[in-house]
Amino acid sequence: MVLTEFDLTKFEEEAQERWGHAFESNPSNLEKFYLTVAYPYPSGAMHVGHGRTYIVPDVVARYQRMRGRQVLYPMAFHVTGAPVVGISKRIANKDPKTIHLYRDLYKVPQNVLEEFTDPLTIVRHFAAEYQRVMTACGLSIDWRRRFITVDPTYSKFIEWQWKYLFEAGHVIKGAHPVRFCTVDDNPVGDHDLLEGDKAEVIKFTMVMFRFGDAFIPTATLRPETIHGVTNLWANPAVTYVRAIVDGKPWIVSKEAAEKLALQDHTVEIKEEIRGSDLVDKKVSHPLCGEVTILPADFVDPDMATGMVMSVPAHAPFDYIALRDLQQAGKYTDIKPVPLIKVEGYGAVPAADAVEKAGIKSQMDSRMDSLTQEIYSAEFSKGKLFEKYGGKPVRVARDEVAELMVEKYDSKVMYEFDLRPVICRCGNKVKVKILHDQWFLKYSDPEWKQQVKDQLADMALVPPEVRAEFDRTVDWLKDWACTRRVGLGTRFPWDKAQLIEPLSDSTIYMAYYTIAHKIREIDPKLLTPEVFDYIFLGKKSPDLPEKKKLDAMREEYLYWYPYDFRFSAKDLISNHLTFQLFHHVTIFPKEKLPQGMVVFGMGLLNGAKMSSSKGNVFLLEDAVAEFGADTVRMFLMGSAEPWQDFDWRNELVLSTKKQIERFYNTVLEIKDASGEPHDIDRWLASRLQAHITRTTEALDKFQTRQALQEAYFGIETDLKWYRRRLGKDCDGSRELRTLCSVWTRLLAPFIPFTAEHLWKELAGEGLASFAPWPVADGRLVNEKAELAEELLSRTVEDIESIRKLIQITPKAITIALAPEWKHQVFRTIAASEDKNTVVKEIMKDESMRKRGKDATDAAKQITTLIHRLPPHVVEPLLREPISEKAVFESAIPFLEQEFGVPVHIVEAEGSGHVKALTALPFKPSIIIE
Ligand SMILES: [Zn+2]
Repeated sequence: MVLTEFDLTKFEEEAQERWGHAFESNPSNLEKFYLTVAYPYPSGAMHVGHGRTYIVPDVVARYQRMRGRQVLYPMAFHVTGAPVVGISKRIANKDPKTIHLYRDLYKVPQNVLEEFTDPLTIVRHFAAEYQRVMTACGLSIDWRRRFITVDPTYSKFIEWQWKYLFEAGHVIKGAHPVRFCTVDDNPVGDHDLLEGDKAEVIKFTMVMFRFGDAFIPTATLRPETIHGVTNLWANPAVTYVRAIVDGKPWIVSKEAAEKLALQDHTVEIKEEIRGSDLVDKKVSHPLCGEVTILPADFVDPDMATGMVMSVPAHAPFDYIALRDLQQAGKYTDIKPVPLIKVEGYGAVPAADAVEKAGIKSQMDSRMDSLTQEIYSAEFSKGKLFEKYGGKPVRVARDEVAELMVEKYDSKVMYEFDLRPVICRCGNKVKVKILHDQWFLKYSDPEWKQQVKDQLADMALVPPEVRAEFDRTVDWLKDWACTRRVGLGTRFPWDKAQLIEPLSDSTIYMAYYTIAHKIREIDPKLLTPEVFDYIFLGKKSPDLPEKKKLDAMREEYLYWYPYDFRFSAKDLISNHLTFQLFHHVTIFPKEKLPQGMVVFGMGLLNGAKMSSSKGNVFLLEDAVAEFGADTVRMFLMGSAEPWQDFDWRNELVLSTKKQIERFYNTVLEIKDASGEPHDIDRWLASRLQAHITRTTEALDKFQTRQALQEAYFGIETDLKWYRRRLGKDCDGSRELRTLCSVWTRLLAPFIPFTAEHLWKELAGEGLASFAPWPVADGRLVNEKAELAEELLSRTVEDIESIRKLIQITPKAITIALAPEWKHQVFRTIAASEDKNTVVKEIMKDESMRKRGKDATDAAKQITTLIHRLPPHVVEPLLREPISEKAVFESAIPFLEQEFGVPVHIVEAEGSGHVKALTALPFKPSIIIE
């Protein structure tokens, strides 16, 4: 028999040609299944991590299509925002890092790269590349619905959406501290960060120490500890400045002066001061008196004001820094000044904690956790000393802060709790107070409640993410929703601003339903009333193009709500939750989202994939090197969607060999024409179980589990089947059915190979639309499965014994357990309480007569039952099999396997001592 060669590239070309427009999907009388995935921001090439994001939904789409549903899987491109504007600027400025990334990693040809000084060229280039690569991966997308988020019709849709947000009172204006990039002159969203996405903006109190005619501000989260300040810290190596801030001289680090200018202060720098010139100078504050400025290397000029107030009694860092200086014989007159009493600690808590932990140096890694421990102990149960008012810390903190602001010139300063925070452009992100900033009021408890109500009705996969969604809804604060720079839709109430990217990408799943039809209408005609009609059915007079609107309304009503949305887990804290807030504002209950599937992350050779760090493998290269089916099967089979996966080329290569093995096996057996044997009944029965379990797994989005069943489950069975038939037998004509089922079960995963084989099998139409196999209960044959299970377990036992004894056998005897042991087996297997059942058994007269033999057997059988899988024990209870018949009919097979005569005997009376250990489903084996 000549096999057609296994050539994935050829299969890909063939299938693409046959698919054509097959995945364009229109309303029909079939049940619909509408799934969406977060659309990409096409500012760079796709890597294999992106691959999984779009292939998981494709496997689900293909599966549902074969189940007979009308499936819609659309795609668009998100081009809104500032990042691409920054990229184009950096390319215009010939920034070497950016040029390297785009020319060498993303392989953009030089002549195209030169046009990247226009941001729209960049997104158009990569949108085209995304579409090409997605198609090459076999994604069954309806490309007619493709759009980009700066299309004029899309902007009209966004304006309509925001009208509803505004009318509901969710859009407000105010002053607000936000992450800000001074190079881009723009607020910085989560997507605009290279580093520091976990950093939060924290509100500090600046404590104003007098220094001659000037103030030295130190920022603190614990203003109440002012009473315990013994000194300030300044870094002698740092450049400070004397600046006029709001009309008064201040001394702060150079970095701090810049930050203050972003936070509602007028700042005019007068002169630079070396940190070393501040050391040993005196400062004072009304609440602590006069203290000295001490030198400290740990003071970071980029943290708040660059000056630190020292409270050694309550801050471990201050305590150690002072101790180090004093051990060198300096500043020995300074003593920690305690001010808070806290249960569980001595008079000087910081000293207590540091000495108890045996910490020798400021660099000790435990310092942070120790600091945290004291801070929280003092906050939760600490009390100020009577002479400072005697109040609990949690009360005193705010009171002291207020007092300082009112009487002692204190101001608020915003700063990140973690560093560094780096913008995509490479600049350090700062905190800026924006005025005239627009916000979405996600803090509104009523709005939150609406989202919670909807979440409760949704299917979330995996279920563990539910808690994370609930937490996000609780924790969400007002969201700055406009930007001054970038691409996007103008903000309707302030045309100088744009709606930022996470705020214009929340209900576009509804837009997909009409995207291919709305294009035919002049954007100028797209008033809010038009969208009111399409999406909400609100009639108004003089609607333009009524026929087209009706067609769009029909599409929307058919497809919406979406059934499942797929996205990576890092989008739970923003996009996936935001979209629920927006949906509940605009759409009626029956059109709200139904479910979400959340993905894990991608690793490359064990490390996190990151374009900026160059640790990526491009999807297009992977498809070219391994074939699209290989990429798909590897990504689906190496982990469940919500688990992290790790791309390793050597493992991908072995996946390719698996597909080849599947392909060759099908071609080898598809034309078998023998008469069916007993073993065919077994194979058919097993196949029904694989169909059921693959289906169940895919219903739960368990792509890995589904592949285990559909690929390895069937492959293992076939191996046994062919072994049982022996070398000279080709198998029966029933194998043709198996080939058809097998190909269809794998079609969602490896659609290209499946299409090719489907044609070879003379299947009707496309494999992509072939009916999904349905398990036939009439073919399930428990007895046949039990018989083969018994046989294969016994063969394994014989093989391991043979290895153990290392003699060339002359004969093999299989000794079967007597009927009374079967009785014991059934009693134990059926009993609720396996611990007391032995006693019950021994109440029986005939068993008692057997004495120790019976108790021993009962114990061994109990152990055996624990080891046997339920799919063996349960059927055995329902319908016992005749072990004798099983083995006797398998004698030719066993003799061929082992090349010696095989005897089947009853254990009792066989004369073999060893035979007496025979148990039900575990005969004893005697090799001579
Ligand atoms: Zn920037």
